[in-house]
Amino acid sequence: MDASIMNGKDLSSGAVSAVRCIANPIKLARLVMEKTPHCFLTDRGAAEFAATMGVPAVPGEQLVTERSRKSLEKEKQEKDAQKADQEKNLGTVGAVALDSKGDVAYATSTGGIVNKMAGRVGDTPCIGSGGYADNDIGAVSTTGHGESILKVNLARLALFHVEQGKTLEEAATMSLGYMKSKLNGLGGIILVNRAGDWAVKWTSESMAWAAAKDGKLHVGIDLDETSITDLP
Ligand code: ASP
Repeated sequence: MDASIMNGKDLSSGAVSAVRCIANPIKLARLVMEKTPHCFLTDRGAAEFAATMGVPAVPGEQLVTERSRKSLEKEKQEKDAQKADQEKNLGTVGAVALDSKGDVAYATSTGGIVNKMAGRVGDTPCIGSGGYADNDIGAVSTTGHGESILKVNLARLALFHVEQGKTLEEAATMSLGYMKSKLNGLGGIILVNRAGDWAVKWTSESMAWAAAKDGKLHVGIDLDETSITDLP
C-alpha cells in the first residue's frame, strides 16, 4: 500500500510506499510528516518506523475485503491489462479539506493496481502527482492510471492552472485533458481552495465521490448524476 498527505499551511508532507500489514497507511504517512524530518519512507524502513511508532501490525488477509478479492479475480481474467488499468479504479481513496482556520490539506491512499510488476509504485505516494496542498492555491487529490499521473505531475499541474487564474473546475478539466491527449491516460481529481470552492472531475468511466459544504452533502458516481441532501 502507498499513501501521502500534505498540509497547505506550511507544505509539510509525509509519504509511505510498499507498506504491508497495517490498517491505515495514511496514518503512517501522517506520522512521517509530523514525527520525522523526512518526507518519504518506503518498504522495510517504513515498516520499522511503523513499529517504532507503535502502529499495530495486522495480518494481511484481514485487510482484503470480499469486494477486493472479487475484483482481483476479475482483473486476473482480463486479457487487456492496460485497458483494465485505465478503466477501473482499484481502491484509491482521496480527500481534500479546508478547515475552520483556513488551512487546506490533502490525503491519498491506495492498494495500487493489480497485475503490475513487483516493486511498482504509482503516483499516490508522490507529492505533486498523487496530491498537493498549498494554502495560497488549493488542495488536490488524484486517482487513476498512476504511470500517466506521474508523467504529468497531475496534482501540481492542476494547481498550476489555478495559479494562472483558472477556476478549480477549469483547472481539473485542463489537467485531465492534457493527460488524456498526451498519454491516453485516464483519471479523476478532487480540488478545494481557501474560499471553500470545490470541484470533482474524472475522465475514467466512473468515480465515487462526495462533498460536504454549508450543511449539504453532494454525492455521485456516474457523470451527470449528483444527489444533494441535507447533512444530519
Ligand atoms: N493511482 C493509483 C496507482 O496507480 C491507482 C488508483 O488510483 O486506483 O497506484
